[in-house]
Amino acid sequence: MFNLRDIIRPHLATLKPYSSARDEYKGNEGIFLDANENALGSATTEDFNRYPDPYQWQIKDKLAIIKAIAVDNIFLGNGSDEAIDLLFRLCCRPSIDNVIILPPTYGMYDVSANINDVEVRKVLLNGEFQINVEAVLQAVDAKTKLIFICSPNNPTGNNIDVTSINRIIESFSGIVVIDEAYVDFSTQASFIQSLRQYPNVVVLQTFSKAWGLAGLRLGMAFASEAIIALMNRIKPPYNVNSQTQKIALEALANHDKVKKMVKTILQERLILQEEMKKLAVVEEIFPSDANFIMVRVKEAKEVYKYLVTKMIIVRDRSSVQLCDNALRITVGTADENRQLLQALSHYDYLKFPDSKYFIA
Ligand SMILES: *Cc1c(COP(=O)(O)O)cnc(C)c1O
Repeated sequence: MFNLRDIIRPHLATLKPYSSARDEYKGNEGIFLDANENALGSATTEDFNRYPDPYQWQIKDKLAIIKAIAVDNIFLGNGSDEAIDLLFRLCCRPSIDNVIILPPTYGMYDVSANINDVEVRKVLLNGEFQINVEAVLQAVDAKTKLIFICSPNNPTGNNIDVTSINRIIESFSGIVVIDEAYVDFSTQASFIQSLRQYPNVVVLQTFSKAWGLAGLRLGMAFASEAIIALMNRIKPPYNVNSQTQKIALEALANHDKVKKMVKTILQERLILQEEMKKLAVVEEIFPSDANFIMVRVKEAKEVYKYLVTKMIIVRDRSSVQLCDNALRITVGTADENRQLLQALSHYDYLKFPDSKYFIA
């Protein structure tokens, strides 16, 4: 049922990509006079005078082992945002095709669609922030190219039901993009291992969250060899700079540190959840499989402003559909979380005199 040829924009099937100097001569040794680089060095102490590897093979070799997938199933880009944008440009004819997103969810799918002049069909998640599968399938037409599913979902924090995701993948002849930016904090397994079974899935992950490298801008996409080859064909030739590649290699050699940090963040998440239960201002704590917690409070805007006066910044999501009075709170260090709880307990003390929870 899924035919990649029918999903990509027709002119890209025969596109001749830019051929860089590094594409035309692949050896590592020699006198390189082919790329108009500055052979003398750089203006900096450390040299950056050579163009980076356009396909980041060293990173992919390491990542392939960690993710138990072949290197040809991996794409790397300037953050997940680059992969999202490339998927639009690969599949969606501006002002003709459409995509489906499932609000409340990550804002970038909508923005990227708008930038690319692509219609966005919004099918709200249900009261449990799960997919209304029938409604999604009803929203599909012959010009629907992509369906974005974020799991664990941002800003709600919950996992999306695997059975619902599978039903959509199996019933849709376009590409299902599963954004797993928070998968390292989740009890649910990645869809990477389902890629063999499902040629119409793209899994997005990122170095920005569990790996602690948001400033580096490195995102991953995992998909069939055919989809990855097409993404490589349309990407800017040197989309991941050499400094990023170097630091990513260092990070990959330190995978144990990531596991330790994730463990600590999960412990802190639990403490935050347990302590926030005691606060009068907190009405509901939504289950989280991510490194943040969405909470419903009495007056989100007021609580938000109060926290700002204490120099604690959370994300006010109260204007988002289905997220009335919701704040999204990232799990911080133990000390930061303690300060947050202290500030909220003071707010309780001021606003709800009957509240017994007070941290002096
Ligand atoms: C943070 C986040 C990302 C990461 O984006 P990068 O561009 O890789 O930093 C992707 N998707 C979701 C849902 C996120 O919350």
